[in-house]
Amino acid sequence: MVKTIKIMKIKNSLKKIGSAALVLFLSVSSYAGGPENLKNTDMEKFDTHEFPALPYGYDALEPYIDARTMEIHYDKHHRAYFNNFVGAIKDTKYDSYSIYEIFAKVSEAGDVIRNNGGGFYNHVFFWNNLSAKSSGPSAELTEALVKEFGSVDKFRELFSNAAKTRFGSGWAWLVVTAEGKLAVGSTPNQDNPLMDVSPVKGTPLLALDVWEHAYYLKYQNRRPDYVEAFWKVVNWEEVSRRFKDAKK
Ligand code: MN
Repeated sequence: MVKTIKIMKIKNSLKKIGSAALVLFLSVSSYAGGPENLKNTDMEKFDTHEFPALPYGYDALEPYIDARTMEIHYDKHHRAYFNNFVGAIKDTKYDSYSIYEIFAKVSEAGDVIRNNGGGFYNHVFFWNNLSAKSSGPSAELTEALVKEFGSVDKFRELFSNAAKTRFGSGWAWLVVTAEGKLAVGSTPNQDNPLMDVSPVKGTPLLALDVWEHAYYLKYQNRRPDYVEAFWKVVNWEEVSRRFKDAKK
């Protein structure tokens, strides 16, 4: 197993590379492991000294996700989670932990780290699984979805229901479990499937933010409409890559 790169150790060397290909190369080549030690590599691209950039413009996902919502969501909500998380781990033992190590024992870390660490990670993960160019799952992922859920449409229905029925604020997830199976579930607040407290555990492949701040300006109380619009902007290329990585 390749040890996860400590987020605090990644300096400016990565953040200014500006080459998606190189980042992808580093990301893929530094990952290894079976279902028992699955890690998602997204966070290895980032350090805690700089708030990660949104991978597209605020208006990129119009009309499904409006620019004003995206701007407030990224620049206010996400940034606050990042700042609070960095502040909370500063000068503590968690400074030297990877974010995965923090999540694995987050019940011991306290609510400030749990809520803000989750809020930081979940949004990075979410932005990366959205795209203006939405296609469909890879052949490999399609086969796994059909095997687990009966059809891709059935998976979408289950995932949408998880998103629509999460009471209050939270997230819907598609994960690969430690047994190597696909599973759908939801988490409250800013919890995620990498956390020891999560009702659904595994390596996340796809996330949907169902906090009101994610949709209220455009959709008001119509969360189901937002969930349906989400499917128009899923970055299946990224979700399929995550699945491929998770299976190594
Ligand atoms: Mn959010």
